[in-house]
Amino acid sequence: MNRNYTNYSGRICILGGGFGGLYTALKLGKFAKFQDSSYEIILIEKKERFLFTPLLYEVVTGELEPWEVAPSYKKLLADSPVKFYHGEIDNVDLEEKLVYLENGERLSYDYLVLAVGKETRLDIVPGAAEYSQTFRSIEDAETLKEKLRILESSDLTTIKIAIAGAGPNGVEIACKLADRLKKRGEIHLIDRGDEILKTLPQGCKTASYRALLKRGVQIHLNTSVESIKPQEIIIKHQEKTEKINTNLVLWTGGNQTIQWVKNLNCQHNEYGQIIATSTLQIAAYPEVFVLGDIGEIRDKTGKISPTTAQAAFQQAPRTAKNIYAKITGKKIKPFTYLYLGEMLTLGIKNAVVFSFGISLSGKLASIIRRGVYIQRLPTLKHQIQVAKKWIFGK
Ligand SMILES: Cc1cc2nc3c(=O)[nH]c(=O)nc-3n(C[C@H](O)[C@H](O)[C@H](O)COP(=O)(O)OP(=O)(O)OC[C@H]3O[C@@H](n4cnc5c(N)ncnc54)[C@H](O)[C@@H]3O)c2cc1C
Repeated sequence: MNRNYTNYSGRICILGGGFGGLYTALKLGKFAKFQDSSYEIILIEKKERFLFTPLLYEVVTGELEPWEVAPSYKKLLADSPVKFYHGEIDNVDLEEKLVYLENGERLSYDYLVLAVGKETRLDIVPGAAEYSQTFRSIEDAETLKEKLRILESSDLTTIKIAIAGAGPNGVEIACKLADRLKKRGEIHLIDRGDEILKTLPQGCKTASYRALLKRGVQIHLNTSVESIKPQEIIIKHQEKTEKINTNLVLWTGGNQTIQWVKNLNCQHNEYGQIIATSTLQIAAYPEVFVLGDIGEIRDKTGKISPTTAQAAFQQAPRTAKNIYAKITGKKIKPFTYLYLGEMLTLGIKNAVVFSFGISLSGKLASIIRRGVYIQRLPTLKHQIQVAKKWIFGK
């Protein structure tokens, strides 16, 4: 069934309500022209709750509650003209300008925003899909919390956890788990590379090594995960295979482009990401905008933006402004990426903040990090609610 427009001069479909999609939708909703409902703006998303991923770790330690990091779209869009469509996208026909949904419905559009992100790749190692847990979603954090609760109330003297991947995700969750489990925890952090946090500045690496070692996390570098079985992980280091008994395995390595995105009839790079122009459009389909992890986006200086929340957060207002410019007959502008630095949580009330050459770690860094992130949460109303809880504890 094709949903027809009623009383609108056009429709903007935004696919994916993550950092790219939701922030574009919120910005578009603020333009006066859209508040008078001349254009229908629809955000299509398969989940009911947005996730502010950088603060997901705090849910596991109880420093933050799920509502703070994963507010519902219904709540976030309550004061906005943007309509929320809860559903899963199956495909897009770029020629016919149609979005196909899993429930058989299809939506036509005048402007399209593609922002469905990436998915975790679990087919790299045998057993990863069956016996490891991902840490990407609020559901993952809630499941992990429950598994930890069960393990903590068991008669185990040591709770053994293996984490595959020593990127930011692996390092941050390792520190949080070590702080939660204290002396009862035995945490193994495994990576095939020769260092942790490969792409991050040295200041972050040094602070992170210090935090991991202080917490007794066992770091296995130049080590590959061979397979995962119930209650054990098999690793290989310098041709030697070793078995580690585990109560839990977390998988944080490897993302991939979603299959239907790879199949879209447009230009892709070797990773299946859509090649976008510096104005965040698909060259052959100027009514289609691309942002976030699914795109290879070169900003106006020619630099490729990283696949981070930081980049998607900056691309969103530019996407919204460019769509608005197109509708109002104004000139669209290229996107400029500004690298602001890195912030990592390294345990309860501990973090490292690296920005413009200055590196700060410890409690002060954790306060700065939390403050900055609260200010980046979607909607002022939600920011105030989270800030109030932080300051007054309720
Ligand atoms: C635990 C964790 C911590 C992170 N911490 C940081 C950090 O500290 N700093 C940083 O810069 N980056 C961080 N990142 C990376 C960051 O989250 C991503 O780069 C960012 O979210 C990308 O934004 P996006 O809009 O492209 O995709 P996403 O934010 O992933 O959003 C995509 C959305 O599309 C939806 N979707 C996907 N497929 C479909 C479909 N078929 N139908 C309907 N909806 C669909 C998804 O449910 C999702 O809501 C972290 C990531 C994780 C997992």
